[in-house]
Amino acid sequence: MRLVLLGAPGSGKGTQAARLKADLGVPHISTGDMLRAAVKAGTPLGVQAKAVMDAGQLVSDDLLLGMLEERLAQPDAKAGFILDGYPRNLAQADALDHLLTKIGQPLDAVVKLDVPNEVIIGRCEIRFAAEHRKDDDPAVVRDRLKVYAEQTAPVADFYARRGKLQVVDGVGELDDITARVKRALSTETAAANG
Ligand code: AMP
Repeated sequence: MRLVLLGAPGSGKGTQAARLKADLGVPHISTGDMLRAAVKAGTPLGVQAKAVMDAGQLVSDDLLLGMLEERLAQPDAKAGFILDGYPRNLAQADALDHLLTKIGQPLDAVVKLDVPNEVIIGRCEIRFAAEHRKDDDPAVVRDRLKVYAEQTAPVADFYARRGKLQVVDGVGELDDITARVKRALSTETAAANG
């Protein structure tokens, strides 16, 4: 299964991906986690990305594509993947399309977790208190939501136009949301099989 999880920051993509990966038998690839690991390790990429991430803006498309291409070339991604945090704009959606065509691994499904902004803001406040991620600071969250609305929301339309997008209600109990995503994926698989 090759799946893209879409949704605003704090919509629960990471939480749901972590729950789905065992079921689907594929790795959870979070570009945000990869970037945070690079920042922590102090790699050149991490040093370049840090200030941009702290400000809630997007790191350059070129850096992301190189990082993703390397990750998808690893053996565990041959079985498929759950992509979380990529693509974040239309240029990345195009780049992903080309990359997946090149490696002969087209997407099976795109699921968007739909969560209203008020709920997102509340969740990020809780995560800020617990994890102190600079980009969960309420002022930065507002900027991240703006970046999402301007740059990432069109990505959902991009997949909707291709008949690939499934929108799932991302509010409620975690188990219920996971069940909704699985239901969406089984419909997708049934449709693909005929
Ligand atoms: P996330 O954990 O997915 O919310 O990502 C945290 C931060 O990493 C984002 O606010 C961006 O600064 C950066 N980032 C993660 N994924 C991408 C991406 N696909 N393109 C650009 N920047 C990204």
